[in-house]
Amino acid sequence: MQASRLAPGFKTSPWWWEAAEPPRRDATLPDRAAVLVVGGGYAGLSAALTLRRLGRAVTVLDAERIGWGASSRNGGMVSGGLKVARTGLEQAHGAVQARAIVDAAAASFPFIEETIAREGIDCDYVRGGRYLAAWSPGHYQAMAARCDYLAEVTGLPARMLPKARQREALGSDHYHGGMLADATGSLHPGKYARGLAAAAEAAGARLVDGVRVQGIRAEGSGFRVQTDKGEIRADSVLVTTNGYSHDRRGTALPWLARRLVPLNSYIIATEELGEGKIEELFPGRRMISDSKRVLNYFRPSPDGKRILWGGRASFRAATAEDTAPALHGYLTACFPELRDVQITHAWTGYVAFTFDHLPHIGVQDGIHFAAGCQGSGVAMATWLGHNLALKAAGAANRPFALDGLAFPTRPFYAGNPNWFLPLIGGWYRLRDRIDRLAA
Ligand SMILES: Cc1cc2nc3c(=O)[nH]c(=O)nc-3n(C[C@H](O)[C@H](O)[C@H](O)COP(=O)(O)OP(=O)(O)OC[C@H]3O[C@@H](n4cnc5c(N)ncnc54)[C@H](O)[C@@H]3O)c2cc1C
Repeated sequence: MQASRLAPGFKTSPWWWEAAEPPRRDATLPDRAAVLVVGGGYAGLSAALTLRRLGRAVTVLDAERIGWGASSRNGGMVSGGLKVARTGLEQAHGAVQARAIVDAAAASFPFIEETIAREGIDCDYVRGGRYLAAWSPGHYQAMAARCDYLAEVTGLPARMLPKARQREALGSDHYHGGMLADATGSLHPGKYARGLAAAAEAAGARLVDGVRVQGIRAEGSGFRVQTDKGEIRADSVLVTTNGYSHDRRGTALPWLARRLVPLNSYIIATEELGEGKIEELFPGRRMISDSKRVLNYFRPSPDGKRILWGGRASFRAATAEDTAPALHGYLTACFPELRDVQITHAWTGYVAFTFDHLPHIGVQDGIHFAAGCQGSGVAMATWLGHNLALKAAGAANRPFALDGLAFPTRPFYAGNPNWFLPLIGGWYRLRDRIDRLAA
C-alpha cells in the first residue's frame, strides 16, 4: 500500500486496545475446578458470571489473554439476531420452531442491555440504531419485504429509507437506500470485555490466561483436562472457543471445531477526522452495515473522531496490513472525499460461521459448548454463555430454542476451511458484482 496511506506510528493491533488492551494476568492453573470454562471471550465470561450468581465455583482459562479473541477486536455493533431472522429458517425447521429460534435470538439484545446496566459496565454503550445499506435496488426490495417482520420480532421499529432520503442516515450516495433498525446499539468492545471480566472476577470467578487446553477426557463423574501447563480436573467443562476453536497448538473440542468455519474479519481505523466531519458522514451516529455478500460494516469511533471500517477483505490467510489497502478502497468508494485520509490501525480476528447459519449451544460427550455467532456475536455470545451456564447448572427453567439443535458438519471437514474459502469468497464477490451491474 502507498506509504502515505499509513499514518506515522501505524499499528497492527486493535484501536480498541489503546483504551482497553486485555491485561496479562499472573494467576496460576489450579489442580481442579468445579466448573471449568475454556475460552475467555464474551461467551465464557458471561457463563462464568451467571454460574457465580448461581453459587458455582468457576475457573475460566484462555490460551492467550482473557478477552483477547474476537471479543476485543470486533466492530462493537450490538444487535439481537438480525442475521438469524433471515436465513430461510421456516423451510429448514417449520414455522413454529423457526419462530422460537428467531425469538430466542432476538432476546439477546435486551439481555446485553440488562447485563451492561446491572453490572454497571462502562463501555460507551448507546442504543443508537443501525442503517442497513442496500447494495442494489434488488437488495432494497428484499429488505423492504422483511422490514415489518423484523420490527415485529424485535418489538422495536424498523423502517425503510429510500435512496432519495439516504443522506438522513449516511453522508454518501454509494448505496440504494436501506433500512433503519432501531433495536440496535453500539459499544466499545475492549471496554465491554474488560468490564465483563471484572464483573465475573468480582463475583468470584477465577480467570487464568496463557493456558491452552489440548484435550478433555471423561474420568469418573468428571473430566481430566490436558493443557500446555499441566492437567486440571473438573466436575464439568464448558467450551466457548468459537472462531479460535481449531488450532494446531491444541484444540479443546475437535467435535466442535469440525462444525465451525472460522473466517477472518478485518478492520481499519482512520486518523482523527474531527467531530464535524463525522457528524456530516454519520448523521445520528448510527452503526452502518451493507447488504453485500462480502459485507462492509463501518461506524464512527465512540469518541466521534474517526471511522472504523470493517469487512471480509480477504478469504485467504492474509495479514491485517495486507488487507488495509482493500479496506481503504472500500472506505473511499463510499466516501470519496476521504481519499487522502491515513490509517492508524489495522487488525483482524476470527468469527465463526456454522453450516446451518445458526448459533448453537449443547452438550457433546458430556462437554457443554456455545458457538457460531455468524460474525454477529456481541449480544449473542453474551446470551449464549448465559444460557449455557443455566443449562450446565441445571437451572434453566424454560427451553432455549438454540439448545440441542442438530449441528451439521461436512464430510472430511476437520475445522480448517482455507482450501475452500477463496473459492466461496470469489463466488460471493462475483454475485455482488452482478447484483450491482443489474442495478
Ligand atoms: C473483526 C471482527 C468484527 C466483528 N464485529 C462484530 C460486530 O460489530 N458486532 C457483533 O455483534 N459481532 C461482531 N463480531 C463477532 C463477535 O466479536 C464474536 O461473535 C464474539 O466476540 C464471540 O465471542 P466468544 O466469547 O464466543 O469468542 P472469542 O471472543 O473469540 O473468545 C474465544 C477465546 O477462546 C480462546 N481459546 C481458543 N482455543 C482455546 C484453547 N484450546 N484453550 C484455551 N483458550 C482457547 C481464545 O484465545 C479466545 O480468547 C466481530 C468479530 C470480529 C473478529
